[in-house]
Amino acid sequence: MGNSRLDSFQQSIKNFFKQSTEYDINHPSETPTGYNGWRWLSIALAALLIFSIINKSTELSHEEIPYSQFLKAVKDNQISNVIVTEKYMLGKLKNGEPFMTFPLWNEELAELMATHNVEYVVRSSESWLSNIFFNWVMPMVILVLIWSWLFGRTAAAGRDFLNIGNKIRIHPETAAKITFAEVAGADSAKQELKESIDFLKTPEKIQQLGGRMPKGVLLVGPPGTGKTLLARAVSGEAQVPFFNISGSEFIELFVGVGAARVRELFEQARQKAPCIIFIDELDAIGRTRGGPLAIGGHDEREQTLNQLLTEMDGFDPSSGVVVMAATNRPEVLDKALLRAGRFDRQIIVDKPDLLDRIEILKLHCKALKMAHTIDLSVIARRTPGLVGADLANIANEAAIIATRYSHSEISMADFEAAIDRVLAGPEKKNRILNSEEKRRVAYHEAGHALVAEKVPTGQPVHKISIIPRGISALGFTLQLPVEEKFLSTEDELKDQLAILLAGRMAEKIVLGSLSSGAQNDLEKASEITRNMVCYLGMSKKLGALTYGKRQQLQFLPTEEAEQRNYSEETARLIDSEIKQLIDAAEQRAQEILNNQRGILDKLADLLQEKEVVVREELLALLK
Ligand code: ADP
Ligand code: MG
Ligand code: ZN
Repeated sequence: MGNSRLDSFQQSIKNFFKQSTEYDINHPSETPTGYNGWRWLSIALAALLIFSIINKSTELSHEEIPYSQFLKAVKDNQISNVIVTEKYMLGKLKNGEPFMTFPLWNEELAELMATHNVEYVVRSSESWLSNIFFNWVMPMVILVLIWSWLFGRTAAAGRDFLNIGNKIRIHPETAAKITFAEVAGADSAKQELKESIDFLKTPEKIQQLGGRMPKGVLLVGPPGTGKTLLARAVSGEAQVPFFNISGSEFIELFVGVGAARVRELFEQARQKAPCIIFIDELDAIGRTRGGPLAIGGHDEREQTLNQLLTEMDGFDPSSGVVVMAATNRPEVLDKALLRAGRFDRQIIVDKPDLLDRIEILKLHCKALKMAHTIDLSVIARRTPGLVGADLANIANEAAIIATRYSHSEISMADFEAAIDRVLAGPEKKNRILNSEEKRRVAYHEAGHALVAEKVPTGQPVHKISIIPRGISALGFTLQLPVEEKFLSTEDELKDQLAILLAGRMAEKIVLGSLSSGAQNDLEKASEITRNMVCYLGMSKKLGALTYGKRQQLQFLPTEEAEQRNYSEETARLIDSEIKQLIDAAEQRAQEILNNQRGILDKLADLLQEKEVVVREELLALLK
């Protein structure tokens, strides 16, 4: 029995260290000999442990007898010898039988044994060997085992984390291949990418003509327009391995790791050529070097960027590796990245236009069970400025909403709700406005809607709602553009200003006071007027000049700072011109609302009653 215990213990020890050796195989730089010594030492110690346990257990296997019986045996002269420890007594009867008992200690026992000629030895209950073992060796062994186990783990984690001097696990993706069929619209981008695909498929072709491929292709466009999707599709179309790594993954806590990763990435890619390296969110590493915060701050990022530049310079374009990258902030990229021989081919992936949006919606609605009445072009028209990711989101929301109300198929109303949700955030049904607030919001939104209908270039109002949504919106007025716009005329901007200020003016006219609800409107209006005056030359007094230079702040990349390049006097003039535009717009809104006061009241009443007013109801009122 003792043997099998020993075996199983040894087995588990072996297993324990086997894990370590397997680990070593993955990391050849680690010499296994370091572990070998440990292994034998541990096995020896374990054997010792087991030996002593067995030893102890044989001691304990003496048959226990009651103390009273022992005393009687002493008095009857039946005992030959005993070993006395502080806890128990082991002994032999004269007939050779071993026994064991737990005595009641007193001085008389020794005398009694002496008078009955019992030979006795006093010992500590543990042998010196087991004593040393249990008090010294065991704790040490346990500590060492725990330590080496922990060390093994942290070393492993550390190696994963640091990837220093080791193979970094950069593998090409093996997921299901995406093709261009899964990317709707974006035709010009696709067209340009075809070239790269041809090259990846038949690299010899271009070489025969002595040409060289552009090394780097940079996809530039707003978030959610499908840049990542396009890059994947290129690898799917060309049927080559795809190394996908995000810029932020390069940036680690420790200086030098990012650079090592870049090196490794290119090395792996060269082995798998033809293939694609795709660096998503290039701006995470590609920011301009030496910004104001660079003093001691961005060493790691700069090293990584330098390594990337070196690798891109170093590799032979005929090797069949195409480097792709994506960014939505090309303006912050280091100019060195865009130079010839690096990301010299830039492809714009813009927000989808109406036709593209229809295509994208078709793609994402393909799998949905939809009512026949649904017209995707109406939905596409309602969603100008939204990108592919938003549209995918809308299609999914519509399905979720339809499920929530147990509709058998997705209706147009479900889509409307989904659009509102994506555009304005989820409805906050539990944010209850009191009747006074509700009245105010109703007049505010009615003001926007009425002026939007009355100014010459206002886009038709599709829907007015006073259901609180998202974080701060208490209501919204949704205008639906008839067609897509790429330019705005001065008149349109002025109308826009009047519409923005109309909410506030309606509150002032009807309720006699202003409220905090117009902050968003005012922000937008201020931005429009500032643009008109400073950048669009729409002020007579200031003329056809631009004033101020916009700059991205390095340390606050989302904020813009304006660099002043005009005098104090001009600044005052700009302020007064802006003020004048705003005042004029306010004046217009006020006039329209005063003239239409009857309709304004009716519309506000209807809104308070129904909370949502759609175009038909508004038109009926306006008649
Ligand atoms: P980006 O990388 O430009 O931020 P993604 O490629 O990650 O955008 O796109 C996010 C999601 O949006 C995609 O997974 C896809 O579902 C959807 N999408 C975006 N653009 C398109 C498009 N042109 N066609 C189809 N789906 C798209
Ligand atoms: Mg992306
Ligand atoms: Zn408003």
